[in-house]
Amino acid sequence: MKIGIAGAGLLGRLLAFQLARAGHAVTVFDPATSPEQRGAAGWTAAGMLSPMAELETANLAVFEQGVRSLALWASIVADLKASAPEHHVMLKMMGSLLLAHKGDEGSARRMIDLLAHKTPAGHAEHAPKPLSRMALRSAESAIHTSGSAWILPHEGQIDSVQAMTAMTVAATTLGVTWRWNETVTSLQQGVIKTAKQDFSFDWVFDVRGTGARPDLSVRGVRGEIFWLHAPSVELQRPIRLLHPRHRVYLVPRDGNRIVVGASEIESEDRSPISLRSTVELLAAAHSVIPELAEARIIHSETNLRPALSDNLPRLEASDGLTRINGLFRHGWLIAPALVKQALAEISL
Ligand SMILES: Cc1cc2nc3c(=O)[nH]c(=O)nc-3n(C[C@H](O)[C@H](O)[C@H](O)COP(=O)(O)OP(=O)(O)OC[C@H]3O[C@@H](n4cnc5c(N)ncnc54)[C@H](O)[C@@H]3O)c2cc1C
Repeated sequence: MKIGIAGAGLLGRLLAFQLARAGHAVTVFDPATSPEQRGAAGWTAAGMLSPMAELETANLAVFEQGVRSLALWASIVADLKASAPEHHVMLKMMGSLLLAHKGDEGSARRMIDLLAHKTPAGHAEHAPKPLSRMALRSAESAIHTSGSAWILPHEGQIDSVQAMTAMTVAATTLGVTWRWNETVTSLQQGVIKTAKQDFSFDWVFDVRGTGARPDLSVRGVRGEIFWLHAPSVELQRPIRLLHPRHRVYLVPRDGNRIVVGASEIESEDRSPISLRSTVELLAAAHSVIPELAEARIIHSETNLRPALSDNLPRLEASDGLTRINGLFRHGWLIAPALVKQALAEISL
């Protein structure tokens, strides 16, 4: 079939890759001037694959899509390796840690109790498990805390930048046409319109994130992150600090880099990171790993998470048009399951 995709973010690239692999003729439209221009939230994401931790705010459907996606990512990354062998994608399934400093255990305990309470029936293996100080030291030798720690054993992480790049290269190898620097001005069943031209397709996917207005009342939720270079700090897993005021995570990446994030602010301001977020994020990161004092700040980035009014994802299909949006703070967690569902619903 002839497929048009509006948006080359996380969903657009994953759809393009999967559809091209299945033999469809795919064209993708995006206002970015090049494949590397980082307009999409997908680039900025820390890439935590956290079905359990997301249950704090999300619902059972997101948890289940997340659990399904963990398995799907493993096969997608293997497929990417086949189509783009020179583009490594780091994918780890070693669980993630929740930490609370001494004195903050009260609010941490409430979070742990909430997660334990929300652990879906039949999924007890996902519930938070307390870690002794010795177990914590053997899991993550960089962390020195006299507080408490828990492991969420079935969580993972993906390097979002590597994955965005590999999906583009692999999809290109499979024949996808990219129309960069082409903003979709409107779309409907089987039609995508840009300022230059109208294009006809057998099926259209609207995955424009915050750009889908006015068709969807999606809003952007500002998120700010840092990249640190810390060769002296060995970290294996994502760490979430259960702080009473700031929610901060540290996510290790290849090349001795650590992503520290993220603010969550009801604003569509994409200007650079604020002093307040800088102080809060970096002070909290330093409190978890004091050796980060000598880390170098190599990058900071701001982006907008696409969210609907209920902060939950939405997938709508009518004849010739599928819309997927509202992936909010768990797009990497759930995209593979949503894409699989979208393609199955229309027998693609
Ligand atoms: C700071 C931060 C941290 C995050 N951390 C995580 C995490 O750890 N784990 C996780 O699972 N998720 C995380 N996320 C969320 C995740 O990044 C998003 O849920 C996901 O990127 C949404 O994917 P999408 O394809 O819907 O939107 P996007 O990735 O934003 O892509 C939308 C695309 O549509 C394009 N577009 C817009 N308007 C138009 C138009 N008119 N015509 C054509 N194209 C258009 C845009 O240019 C963009 O390329 C994080 C997000 C942020 C900002």
